Order: sequence, then C-alpha cells, then structure tokens
Amino acid sequence: MSAPAHDPSSAAPALRPATIAVTAGRPPHEPDEPLNVPITMTSTYGATGDLEYGRFGNPTWSAFEETLGALEGGRALAFASGMAAVTTILDLVGIGGSVIAPRHAYNGSVAALADAESRGRLRASLVDTSDTAAVIAALRADEDCALLWLESPTNPALEVADIPALVAAAHELGIRVVVDNTFATPLLQQPLSLGADIVVHSATKYIAGHSDVLMGAIVVADEEVYGALKGRRDLAGAVPGPFETWLALRGLRTLPVRLERAAANAAELARRLADHPAVEEVRYPGFGAIVAPVLAGGADAGDFLVRATSLWVHATSLGGVESTFERRRRWKLEPATIPDGLVRLSVGIEDVEDLWHDLKQALDRINA
Ligand SMILES: *Cc1c(COP(=O)(O)O)cnc(C)c1O
Repeated sequence: MSAPAHDPSSAAPALRPATIAVTAGRPPHEPDEPLNVPITMTSTYGATGDLEYGRFGNPTWSAFEETLGALEGGRALAFASGMAAVTTILDLVGIGGSVIAPRHAYNGSVAALADAESRGRLRASLVDTSDTAAVIAALRADEDCALLWLESPTNPALEVADIPALVAAAHELGIRVVVDNTFATPLLQQPLSLGADIVVHSATKYIAGHSDVLMGAIVVADEEVYGALKGRRDLAGAVPGPFETWLALRGLRTLPVRLERAAANAAELARRLADHPAVEEVRYPGFGAIVAPVLAGGADAGDFLVRATSLWVHATSLGGVESTFERRRRWKLEPATIPDGLVRLSVGIEDVEDLWHDLKQALDRINA
C-alpha cells in the first residue's frame, strides 16, 4: 500500500518560528535520507555546477542559511564570526561615506568603525539610539550618511531603539539600515519585518547557544544587497568551517526552548535583583536573557561579585546554556558612559532558584 500523499499546500497556515527552527533546512523526507544535513568536508566540487569551490558555497552552510533566513524572513549568509559579518557590511559603505551608530554598540563594532575611520575609509558618528529624535536629527544633518547602524537592545547598556521610526526616517533620506539582532534573536524581534535592510548576528551567542563555536550571519530581504554581500564574502573569504556551521544549526534547532527558559529566568532575576540593597539599578529591557545590575559599590563591588559565586562563570561572551557574567568596565575599550559597577549577566537555562541562591550569597557579602 502506498503512503498517503501529504499535501503541504492544502491551506496550511504559515509555520510558526518554533516549528521553522526544527524543520527548515532538512533533507527531503525520503527512505534512507538522513534526518540531518551531513557535515560536508570538502574544498571543491565536481565541475561544472553551482558551487564550484568551497569558499563560494557548502551544503552545510545552505541548511543553516535556509533555517536562519526562514526565521528572520530573508536570505541568510553564514560567516566565520560575528565580526566577519559586521566588517563585511561596513565594506559596502563607499569611501568617505558616513555611518551613524549607537554609542553603546558592541565594542568590537565600535572599534571596527574607529579603525575604518582612522584609515580614511569612512566617517563614524556615535549617538544614543534610544533617543529617536536625536538620531533623526543626526541623519538629517549628515549629507554623506550611507548607513544607519542599530543594535537593539545594545550591549551591555540594554537600550532599545524604535526601529520602525528610525527606518522610516532613514529611508526617506535614502539611507540603509542595519540591525545587530544578536541580543533579541529572530524569535523576539524580526528587523526585516520592521523595515530594516540588513540583519547581522553573532551566531556565537544565542543561535549556536553552547559557548563552543564562533560564527556570524547576515540576513537581507533585497536580492541586490544579498548579491553584493555574497560577493564580498567570496572575495574576503571570512567563511565558516562546515563543522562549526553544523554545530550552529544544531544549536538553532533548540533556540526557542533555550531562549524561553533563559528569558523566564532573566525576568525573575531582574525582579529579585531590584530588591537587593547592594543593587542601585537594574538594566533590563523586559525581554531577552541579559540583565545588567549596576552595583551601588561600583567597580570594587562588581569585582567582588564575579569572584564570589560558584555557579555563575566569570567570562565574557553570552548566550550559552550556562550563566556567565562580567563587569564590563574591566575592558579598556568600554565607554565611560557605562557605569563602573555594571555587571552584565548572561542568564542561562539552569534552575532559577540555584542561580539566585548563588548570586544572593555573593551580593549579601559585598559590604560585609
Ligand atoms: C559578540 C557580538 C558581536 C561579535 O561577534 P563575534 O562572533 O564575537 O565575532 C557582534 N555584536 C554583538 C551584539 C555581540 O554580542
């Protein structure tokens, strides 16, 4: 007896993100087909086809790109790291063009802008992107502006930008808009659907999600921009390894459940931290899994906290299943507008009671 035909077109509703994360980018459901895309370790392909050479394409990349693209609502390109993706986008800005960017963007992005500026490649102005009127004024005042760079929420100040309002103002002036969506992930914010032109990710963080791989990605809606960025990737060669890409795709499959748990833990910790006397202020945008308490005791209190826990790991980076934290101003590059006592918590998926117990015993001892 033949199997009943499955007709996916029979007025099925559009798939929801948690389903897309699991099902997109799979081999066809056929006898003896593997369920998972294989790790294709090859530097070249039999001529003459579409792929030709390992720097131009790889079937494992394609599976990752199909899945992330479906979640963000565009076409994705995989990169060797978030910074490889960031600098590829900056390369689209013509010589002497200007970029307006958040003063509290990821410090690597700010450093890449400063480096390009120091070489006369472009001009960069840093603004408070949570101040919509100020950003719009800056866009209007800058005749050479080619790119509005947004990151929302920002790392680590957790400021949120009004993406639709800023996109409308930028597009009126013919300025392209990029959103670094690393903190929100496509599950909490889809910038392309809010009108942005380009989305960039450090897939190292929530997408891969296990603190074991470096990767980046760009997602775009427009075919011409896709072609320009793919051309830059082919030439600059900052491509990921097939194994790293397979790990990132494996991570992406469980992003919805990881993020749901981490975000619930973060909301609970934000609430409890706000009531602790050692905490002056809690930065928390109301979604996502990053919480940044500012300690009343400043740098000393922050440095004490990160050494006084047993579960929380003192380490940079974020978005893994395990909870990590660091006092951001320990980095020389961190701007002075970030408070000395700000500790960025990357909340993981452990039991929230254990996380709180570990944090609280350390906070209780700060002034003792
Ligand atoms: C980590 C990070 C980056 C850089 O990504 P890498 O994978 O470390 O190169 C860019 N943007 C944000 C918001 C980040 O957190």
